[in-house]
Amino acid sequence: MKEISLYVHIPFCVKKCDYCDFLSGVYDEQMQREYTNSLCREIAYMGQQLEAVAVSSIYIGGGTPSWLNIAETEKMMQALHASFAIRPDAEITIECNPGTVTWDKFASYRKMGINRLSIGLQSANDDELALLGRVHTYERFLHTYDMARKSGFYNINVDVMTGLPGQTLDKLMHTLTQVIALRPEHISAYALMVEEGTPFYERYKFDAVLQHAGKQTEFLPNEDEEYRLYKMTQQVLQEHGYHQYEISNYAREDYECFHNTVYWTRRPYLGLGLGAASLIEEKRTSNVRDIYVYCQRCNGLSQAERDEHDIVSPLWDEVTELSRKDAMEEFMFLGLRMNRGVKRTDFTDTFGCSIEAVYGDVLKRLREEALLVLDGGRFYLTERGQDLSNYALAQFLLEDETDLS
Ligand code: SF4
Repeated sequence: MKEISLYVHIPFCVKKCDYCDFLSGVYDEQMQREYTNSLCREIAYMGQQLEAVAVSSIYIGGGTPSWLNIAETEKMMQALHASFAIRPDAEITIECNPGTVTWDKFASYRKMGINRLSIGLQSANDDELALLGRVHTYERFLHTYDMARKSGFYNINVDVMTGLPGQTLDKLMHTLTQVIALRPEHISAYALMVEEGTPFYERYKFDAVLQHAGKQTEFLPNEDEEYRLYKMTQQVLQEHGYHQYEISNYAREDYECFHNTVYWTRRPYLGLGLGAASLIEEKRTSNVRDIYVYCQRCNGLSQAERDEHDIVSPLWDEVTELSRKDAMEEFMFLGLRMNRGVKRTDFTDTFGCSIEAVYGDVLKRLREEALLVLDGGRFYLTERGQDLSNYALAQFLLEDETDLS
């Protein structure tokens, strides 16, 4: 039986954080109900097309999925179970933000089969949380974490952020130390991106330009400071038993996030909900991003025509057919983000030719430059290669005339 992973997008938040450009917003309960009903229609519609496929992971992201009330969440989970063949051992994650969960909510998540939580802490320093425009304090996070553990969740990720304005090594160390002491199974440490259209952009756009140009900044850490924050995170987490398996992701043994690795190894996934992206049959697709149009189109969904060779959705607003060249480039870019890199035989199995036939010169050059190694049948970036990953990964872009046979 073929396998797939599902991403489900819940675009609701208590309030918009100052740095956030995710597809999320503040909506009333009626909108939440209407959206969930629409989402259930999309789930049923896509489920009809993917009847013969087993689901190995589900990631419910947002937004703040834990802001959705129990009844709506149950409705959505029931729709997923009714429409897809979810494997009994599937990894099912829900993103939670401190202050949006209760004992009852955690208990109902467990009953629904959710077995992994991803909690957005970002910082253990309240002044940084306030600066980010987050609604919680560190104490509130601790309460949420404690409830999660006592409710029986033994696979928890905690998100932290690096590169915050004014963040010193000491401040980041404080956050890391606090989180490590809690022993979550997984820690994601993402660098802040100053995105256009956010209050942060208005505040820090000049600094962001200086940062990218490698110049001295006023509020944001400059390039060297960012690098030191990254290296310290890497070192401290590794010293405490969290191995880095991807640029921003660390896990205790056996707790790598399966769903994450689906993305980096280009296994198929279906995105459900507003703006959700999919990779199916060498097509990258994105659902419509306007919530009113999304609900309207879902209302118009009727019985799906089943054709296992051509999955389609009226909700897709963007569809990109990936060429063989696109697929090979993605295979390398995404695969080399992971510390274990790419397996030679996986390349051959996927593309029917050897990795050396396509990338022989690049692999040789990067190995000579000590940016890449081949070990145990896998190519992966060295520490120097990770530090210079922008340069190293750019080498895998293929010329249009490259022979890909
Ligand atoms: S909680 Fe997350 S998704 Fe919601 S506004 Fe804040 S950063 Fe964005």
